[in-house]
Amino acid sequence: MTQQYADLQMYIAGEWCSGATGRTEPVLDPATEEVIGRVPLAAAADLDRALAAAVTGFEAWRSTPIAERTAVLHTAAGLLAERAGPVGRVMTLEQGKPLAEATGEARRVAGSLRWHADDARRAYGRIIPSADDTVLSVRREPVGPVAAFVPWNFPAGSPMRKIAAALAAGCSIVIKASEETPGTACEIVRCFAEAGVPAGALNLVFGEPAEVSAHLIAAPAVRLVAFTGSVPVGKLLAARAGAEMKPTLMELGGHAPVIACADADPVDAARRAARAKFANAGQVCTSPSRFLVHESLIGEFTAEFVRAADGIVVGNGLDEGVTMGPMANERRVKAMEELVADAVSRGADVVRGGARLDRPGFFFAPTVLTDVPPDARVMREEPFGPIAPIVSFTDLDDALATANSLPYGLAAYGFTRSSATAERLVRGFEAGILSINHCGGSVHEAPSGGFKESGHGREGGPEGLEGYLVTKRVSHLLR
Ligand code: NAD
Repeated sequence: MTQQYADLQMYIAGEWCSGATGRTEPVLDPATEEVIGRVPLAAAADLDRALAAAVTGFEAWRSTPIAERTAVLHTAAGLLAERAGPVGRVMTLEQGKPLAEATGEARRVAGSLRWHADDARRAYGRIIPSADDTVLSVRREPVGPVAAFVPWNFPAGSPMRKIAAALAAGCSIVIKASEETPGTACEIVRCFAEAGVPAGALNLVFGEPAEVSAHLIAAPAVRLVAFTGSVPVGKLLAARAGAEMKPTLMELGGHAPVIACADADPVDAARRAARAKFANAGQVCTSPSRFLVHESLIGEFTAEFVRAADGIVVGNGLDEGVTMGPMANERRVKAMEELVADAVSRGADVVRGGARLDRPGFFFAPTVLTDVPPDARVMREEPFGPIAPIVSFTDLDDALATANSLPYGLAAYGFTRSSATAERLVRGFEAGILSINHCGGSVHEAPSGGFKESGHGREGGPEGLEGYLVTKRVSHLLR
C-alpha cells in the first residue's frame, strides 16, 4: 500500500470513524492499477447517526452569528490553500490527473470557499411597503440539512461546491463523496473540522451509492438533495426526491458543441478547443466534445487540432512533464473503446489515437476522429473522455440545429470574429454556460448549470447560494 496516500475514514457527528460493519472497498491508483487504500462503507446505522448529527449540527450552525460562520469558513479555506500541494498529490494518486492540475484544483476550491463565505453575508431579505398597518418583510433562511452526492472527476471541486454553498447558507450537510476518490474529500473535510465547524454541521460518508442515496433521500431530516453526476442517475434521484416533495439541485452531464464559424481564426480556435478537450483526460461535464467547423476552415482546424493532440504527454500524473493522466477508472477506457469502434463501423476516420495504451493503468490515447456520421454514438452520447469528433458544416443555422439537437444543454462554445455572429450564437445555443472565442472554465462569481436534461439549479455566483435558501414572508401587525 502506498504510504503517501490519505487516511480514509468517514466523518460523522464531529468524529472520524469506520463504518459500523467494518465493510471497506479498495481504492486504485488509475495510473498503476495498484490498491492504494481501502475506503469504509456506511451501514444504515452510520447513515442514521449522520442524519441525527445533521439535525443538531444545523441548529448549532444556523444560530452561529454570520461573522463567526464566515471566519470559520475563511480559516478552512486558508488551511486548504496551505495544503494544496499534499492534497493535490492525494488527488493525483486516486484520480490520475497531472499534479499541476490537481494542485491548481485544490487552490481554486479554497478560493471558491472564500467567495461563498463572503457572499453569504449578502443573503439579504427585504422590507416591502405595506398597504396597512403591518410591517411586511421577506427573509431568506437556510433550507435545512442537505444530502449531497458527488462524483470522481473533480475530487476537490465537486464536494467543495456543495459544502461551501451549504455551509455558507447556514445549512448542515451529509455528503457522500466518490468511493473512487475518497482521499481528497477526507482532506477537505479535515480542513473544516480543524477550522471549528461544529459537530454535525458537516458529515462525510461513503458507501454503496444506491443504498446511501435511497436511505438519505427518504429521511425526513433531509430538506434538499444535491447531486452531480450522470443524467440517468440524476433522473433517478430527482424522482426519489420528488416523491418526498424535496427540492433538488442537479448538475448533470453534457455534450458540449463547439461551432467554429467561417470567419474564425482556425489555428487559435483549434488550440483552445484541444487544450480544453484533453484537460482532465476529457472527463469534464463542460468538456468541448462535438466540433462543428465551417467547411472553409476544416483543413486548417483539423491540422492544428492534431498538432495539439500530438503535443500531449500522456503518463502518470505524478511524473514531471505529463499533461494528460489516465482515465479515472476501467469503465471509462471501455466506454472509449466502444465509442471509437462504433464510429469506425459507421465510416469515421481515426486520425490520431483511438486505442488504449499498451501499459498498466487506465490510459487511452488522445483521439481525433473525422468524417463522423451524425448517427455515430459519439455524436449523441457524452463521451466523458479524450475523444474529439470533428465534422464540417456549411450553414450556421444547420450547425446550431445540430448543436441543439441533443437532450443535453450544459456548455457550448463559439468562435467568430463578428460580434453579430457571436450574438447569433449566444441567442441560438440552448445551454447554460456559453464561451465565445475561448474555452475557459468555471469561475466562483458566476453561475454554472444546465438546460434540458443537463439539470437544474446553479452552482457558483449568487445563484449558487439561492438553492440552499428558503423564503419566508412575514407580515407583522403592529400593536
Ligand atoms: P454512473 O452514472 O454510475 O455514476 C455517476 C456518479 O453517480 C458516480 O459518482 C456514482 O457514484 C454516482 N451514483 C451512481 N448511482 C448512484 C445512486 N443510485 N445514488 C447516488 N449516486 C449514484 O457512472 P460513472 O461510470 O461513475 O460515470 C460515467 C458517467 O457519469 C459519465 O459518462 C458522465 O456522463 C457522468 N458523470 C458526470 C459528471 C459530471 O460532472 N456531471 C461526473 C462524473 C460522471
